[in-house]
Amino acid sequence: MTDPLIRVRGVTKSFGDNHVLRGVDFTAAAGTTTTILGPSGSGKTTLLRALNVLETPDAGTIGIGDVEVDFGALPSGKAGRAAAARLRAQSGMVFQAHNLFPHKTVLENVIEGPVQVQKRPLEEAVADARALLDQVGLAEKADQYPFQLSGGQQQRVGIARALALKPKVVLFDEPTSSLDPELVGEVLSVIKDLTHEGWTTVIVTHEVRFAQQVCNQVLFLDGGVVVESGSPDQVIGHPREDRTRQFLKRIL
Ligand code: ADP
Repeated sequence: MTDPLIRVRGVTKSFGDNHVLRGVDFTAAAGTTTTILGPSGSGKTTLLRALNVLETPDAGTIGIGDVEVDFGALPSGKAGRAAAARLRAQSGMVFQAHNLFPHKTVLENVIEGPVQVQKRPLEEAVADARALLDQVGLAEKADQYPFQLSGGQQQRVGIARALALKPKVVLFDEPTSSLDPELVGEVLSVIKDLTHEGWTTVIVTHEVRFAQQVCNQVLFLDGGVVVESGSPDQVIGHPREDRTRQFLKRIL
């Protein structure tokens, strides 16, 4: 059997006295979608950001593909930064609010990472970006500026921008929570298409019904640990743990 694409073991993270992650373990196979559910403050975003090393865990290991970092034994200085950068390059992050460069066109936003960070040839990056914009339904918006787009369209550009880096894993941090309700559907539909195309994704969301439809695995996080994990039918449909049941009762 091949190793799971994502491997998280014993990950801890504190901010001062606040022990936000207290030993998180999970794995996810290539081509699967994992949803992280849990009450506010349970550590969902911190865990997602740790996968992209936007937060550096205090201890534990995170592996994605053939890159594995033991944060408890991370060397200081250049070697540590290089290891963190290798792991970060394995995933692409889609943020809550799109964070597009306002003074760049849609196309320029999408090619920024591939050209500036990955040093890919401009023509190739442009061709890829146009294909991605087509995929998220925005081919005709390539030369517009973010302010000319709706929030849902901006978020779809954010998704194209993450995909343009050709990551092994796409991470979504509450991708619809800053949108007006009527714009949520178009963004969820793009994410759903990605999951069908075989992308490996991890999504922090409160859209439980969406999670039930598209994801293979649900992690229920509370107090910085995975309280319960399994298929959506198990965790959402037939939760074993009291804390999971209480949470679902509140939000459904
Ligand atoms: P969730 O996504 O489940 O709502 P978060 O991971 O955002 O939870 O936050 C968990 C806890 O960590 C909260 O108490 C939050 O205030 C704290 N926290 C998150 N990021 C930081 C940070 N950069 N500095 C200090 N505290 C933080």
